[in-house]
Amino acid sequence: MRQIDHFISGGTGGTGGAASRHGDVFDPNSGQIQARVGLGDAATLDRAVAAAQAAQPGWAATNPQRRARVMFNFKALVEANMQSLAELLSSEHGKVVADSKGDIQRGLDVIEFACGVPHLLKGEYTPGAGPGIDIYSLRTPLGIGAGITPFNFPGMIPMWMFGVAIAAGNAFILKPSERDPSVPVRLAELMLEAGAPEGILQVVHGDKEMVDAILDHPAIAAVSFVGSSDIAQYVYSRGVAAGKRVQAMGGAKNHGIVMPDADLDQVVNDLAGAAFGSAGERCMALPVVVPVTDKTANELREAMIPAMNALRIGTSTDPDAHYGPVVNAAHKQRVENWIQTGVDEGAELVIDGRGFKLQGHEEGFFIGPTLFDHVTPQMESYKEEIFGPVLQIVRAADFEHALKLASDHQYGNGVAIFTRNGHAAREFAARVNVGMVGINVPIPVPVAYHSFGGWKRSAFGDHNQHGMEGVRFWTKVKTVTQRWPDGGAGDSAFIIPTMG
Ligand code: NAD
Repeated sequence: MRQIDHFISGGTGGTGGAASRHGDVFDPNSGQIQARVGLGDAATLDRAVAAAQAAQPGWAATNPQRRARVMFNFKALVEANMQSLAELLSSEHGKVVADSKGDIQRGLDVIEFACGVPHLLKGEYTPGAGPGIDIYSLRTPLGIGAGITPFNFPGMIPMWMFGVAIAAGNAFILKPSERDPSVPVRLAELMLEAGAPEGILQVVHGDKEMVDAILDHPAIAAVSFVGSSDIAQYVYSRGVAAGKRVQAMGGAKNHGIVMPDADLDQVVNDLAGAAFGSAGERCMALPVVVPVTDKTANELREAMIPAMNALRIGTSTDPDAHYGPVVNAAHKQRVENWIQTGVDEGAELVIDGRGFKLQGHEEGFFIGPTLFDHVTPQMESYKEEIFGPVLQIVRAADFEHALKLASDHQYGNGVAIFTRNGHAAREFAARVNVGMVGINVPIPVPVAYHSFGGWKRSAFGDHNQHGMEGVRFWTKVKTVTQRWPDGGAGDSAFIIPTMG
């Protein structure tokens, strides 16, 4: 059985792979266990923190241009290893290889952004802010940062975090999902090869025990979390109570509003990809469609059925598959339970993906595409995130009704509106209570030099991921006020200086 170890101080960090607790890593195509990952504890983390403390001051003192060169090297190494990284990612996650390449590429985009760190860290300077007084502010690293990441983007999300954190001069300890932990370890090996000192990017595996150890560790200054909302809120509360800076991104239930004037062919194409790509295991998937007027809903439903029947579900290595299996048996069961809940609540199950079997892979974690109509806001299956290949139609009477549905939902990660009417689109973007908005764009994930983050229960804390928001999160500002007197002693000042 393959053993997946921590990556501490450039190697397994003396754990010898002999962790007392293990997690199972599945092959989602076959349903078999393919590897075991050692689940670490507070002592494991202490070793990583000690290595980070030894390495970080020297790394922070390395000039930013040299740190940027390491990021350039890392980018080239990941590109050179793209195929093997994508295959490794698919083998544990279940998404198809082309989609895994996209996962890695969206992370590399952040590394490219981080290559500009000398410019990004430049401070502000005001000469002559008072008589003979200059003021400047600097962005300085925090010290040791940690990232806790979900299973669904094991390449992109770690790179969102460590790309900016490391370039800014921090050491970074990553606790990836224990369900698909191999790609994060491989990325840490490549960062070492790229020239980062040992201890600057380390990986510790684990579950709640390791997360708690990170949240409580006094030497870790900041924690970035991405995962489900209840855990995001827990991580935020516990981390902040321990005096840390915390950003915690949570779950989602993104709505796609379809106005009567939308190009329906385009909407159907966009929905097929956005609802079912990666088996719906994306926080920016589009699992709720809100057609405005019954006429639009009927037309959309009629067009969606053949489009869904044409979807090809295959193994993660099938180059012709539109999507592969979900990550493990427990998740498959959870999605199928939500489908049953929808039925019990009275939604109309138009296409049922349960019981789908892929020939030759009968034990794999496959779920067929599923369509519900007449879903209402009172239903639990509408309120909660399903995170599978399930599309729900919620009919709206008019624009205001559709706007209210998206705005009132507990999650506020992303939303999309499909229309040819610029005024409606502009009004929607201005008024909707959601963090990321697409206008005729089904998955409005911003590019790396903008920033990513939702509203409401989709994010706790401030500062989004990557872009300047990421730079702000991973640095603290020092402001220096300087005066170089000419030698004559001035008068004592007993009132607050006003520079007047
Ligand atoms: P998850 O919440 O189960 O796990 C996320 C991380 O938390 C993992 O590293 C896991 O080991 C750890 N964890 C799990 N249980 C814990 C506990 N009880 N206490 C402390 N830590 C715990 O999430 P997941 O299933 O891996 O990922 C899917 C979720 O992530 C979905 O809700 C999805 O919407 C969300 N997500 C959000 C974004 C975003 O940017 N908002 C991006 C991707 C995924």
